[in-house]
Amino acid sequence: VIDQLATDLVAALGEDRVITDRGALAGLETDWTGRFRGRARLAVRPASVGEVAAALRVCAAHRVAVVPQGGNTGLVGGAVPLDAVVLSTTRLTDLGAVDELAGEVTVGAGATLEAVRRHAAAAGLAPAVDLASRGSATIGGMIATDAGGIHALRHGSMRHQVRGIEAVLADGTIVGGSTGLATDRPGLHLPSVLAGSEGTLAVITRARLRLIPVWPERATALAAFGDLASAVAAARRLRDRLPDLDAVEYLDAAALALGAARAGQGDPFGRPAAGVGRGVASLLVETAARRSTLEELGAALGSLPGLLDATVVDDGPGRRRLWAIREGVTEAIAALGVPHKLDVAVPPAGLAAFVAALEPVVARAAPDARTFVFGHLALGNLHVNVLGPAPDDDRVDDAVLRLILEHGGSIAAEHGIGRAKARWLALAETPAETAVRAAIRAALDPHGLLNPGVLAP
Ligand SMILES: Cc1cc2nc3c(=O)[nH]c(=O)nc-3n(C[C@H](O)[C@H](O)[C@H](O)COP(=O)(O)OP(=O)(O)OC[C@H]3O[C@@H](n4cnc5c(N)ncnc54)[C@H](O)[C@@H]3O)c2cc1C
Repeated sequence: VIDQLATDLVAALGEDRVITDRGALAGLETDWTGRFRGRARLAVRPASVGEVAAALRVCAAHRVAVVPQGGNTGLVGGAVPLDAVVLSTTRLTDLGAVDELAGEVTVGAGATLEAVRRHAAAAGLAPAVDLASRGSATIGGMIATDAGGIHALRHGSMRHQVRGIEAVLADGTIVGGSTGLATDRPGLHLPSVLAGSEGTLAVITRARLRLIPVWPERATALAAFGDLASAVAAARRLRDRLPDLDAVEYLDAAALALGAARAGQGDPFGRPAAGVGRGVASLLVETAARRSTLEELGAALGSLPGLLDATVVDDGPGRRRLWAIREGVTEAIAALGVPHKLDVAVPPAGLAAFVAALEPVVARAAPDARTFVFGHLALGNLHVNVLGPAPDDDRVDDAVLRLILEHGGSIAAEHGIGRAKARWLALAETPAETAVRAAIRAALDPHGLLNPGVLAP
């Protein structure tokens, strides 16, 4: 009975930790894109690991499903409740002292990336993963989705940053904690088990993160190529030539024009958009080091076959202008409608062939759709965004995800599976892999209470 659940949660946590007001719940029931909507029974906002454990014990006793939610910036509907309790981590915001020698910090799972960045910056350090959603995305959500972001080509994704983790299982058992020593390896690496688990194995409450130096010098370029194949070949050469390469981001002509317009700038190359993957293929390239890399970046770009045009800067305002184009794309698309977001990856050698095949495939599934393709090119990671089909019409999702599998790619590069892609998981893994995942899930959460419907067909 819902009333008894609320009463028991209030008794365990206190009234101010339990939200039952429908108006207050509304913001927790829809995802960032507006494509996935659900209904929360109620929400809890615990402020300590003990309170998380208490909340989960009560929910387990009632056999009620629980959906962990951080900043709710996820792009696969994974934090949307379907008649479940939302466990919001936004009060778990502790920031521990930065260990400057080890280059590590322990933070609450609900701390935003931006808060951790500011905290670490005081010691000249920074988290290695960075995303445009940094102001709202939380460390717990980033670990749970194994977020990648713009520097993953240099530092890896979130799973490579976690030195220790504390989490609570569905029955309220607290696990983890860590000495924080990189050499502390007592067998099973719990952070690796929970990275990418999308709230299905445990609620992450705290993490010890590796930090990297804040590079004092950055040089940034926007470079245009005649087609995607030339841009991919260029990225390969830049990786060879530039040891301090920090980002290689791709924008197709449509994404570039949209991002530039959103940033209040004209198309930097003054050319019209020309359909999916056609027209100018742009790369936003950045190097970061302790010394100036402006000349090195300029020289490396100058040597690239197929380069049509480039602008290279190392001053703050100039760099921010270029990044505003790339970072504005996601929001600009969302401002036009509810997108179908297909975050996929193909081995870089196959990127151009995949994108060439994309246009007819999208056109068949959704004739009036508009498509934007951008992403973290050096890792073969493309965000295919399709505007037009209704939120619950998944024909275009089906067509694009099948195409990616035909090209030997991955249906989930960095945003996760969530609810959005659960249907296609069986196509992307073997029955044995499905069985392994189900067995681990059943061992940690035998009643299937944590995020049912996510990461499962
Ligand atoms: C503008 C924009 C740009 C983005 N850029 C990138 C990008 O470059 N790279 C990238 O990888 N992603 C990107 N994202 C997606 C998103 O920001 C990431 O997926 C992020 O990691 C989600 O964090 P969150 O705190 O918002 O998690 P939520 O959206 O709240 O949750 C995401 C998933 O994690 C689970 N979860 C959340 N907190 C916990 C916890 N404490 N314990 C267990 N499970 C938990 C949820 O149940 C859900 O399944 C972007 C999003 C936007 C809006």
